[in-house]
Amino acid sequence: MLMRRVAAALLTMVALAAWATPAHAATRVLYYDASQAQEFVAVVNQGAQIWNSKVTTVRLEPVPAGRTPNIRVYADNGWPRTYTSSLGNGYWYMGREAVNDGYSKPRIAAHEFGHILGLPDRRTGLCADLMSGSSAPVSCTNANPNSTEAATVNRLFGTSVAVPAGYFTERAA
Ligand SMILES: [Zn+2]
Repeated sequence: MLMRRVAAALLTMVALAAWATPAHAATRVLYYDASQAQEFVAVVNQGAQIWNSKVTTVRLEPVPAGRTPNIRVYADNGWPRTYTSSLGNGYWYMGREAVNDGYSKPRIAAHEFGHILGLPDRRTGLCADLMSGSSAPVSCTNANPNSTEAATVNRLFGTSVAVPAGYFTERAA
């Protein structure tokens, strides 16, 4: 009888603890290293801040000294491109080919971070879509994910969905 009462009390405590726990998981922090992004360091930071203002389940932060980054950012003369190893991990290039063609630098940075955050290319041609990439006009300066893109990232990190490794290039058609 006593054991049963103790068990019942424990179950009540467990139930109360579960009830008190917030429904949303903790925000996952991803560290990025922009130290090799050459002249694009500021725009890489801008791309990270755009995502931080739009999603709640993941945050992009500059890597502290001595810590291994989840994301590395480079710069070269090719097309912007991203290589992911898993959700939230990989590296991307700020490619001068697109910059010199006139594509918006903040849009490129936010788009490549979008791949790291689990979004594929969707070449809709629409400037309102961040992941339409270079299919949107060169004049497009929208660097914000639309509500569907932000919701997808929130869901991926909120539920820790497994995302396979990928390679995404922005080479214009
Ligand atoms: Zn892309």
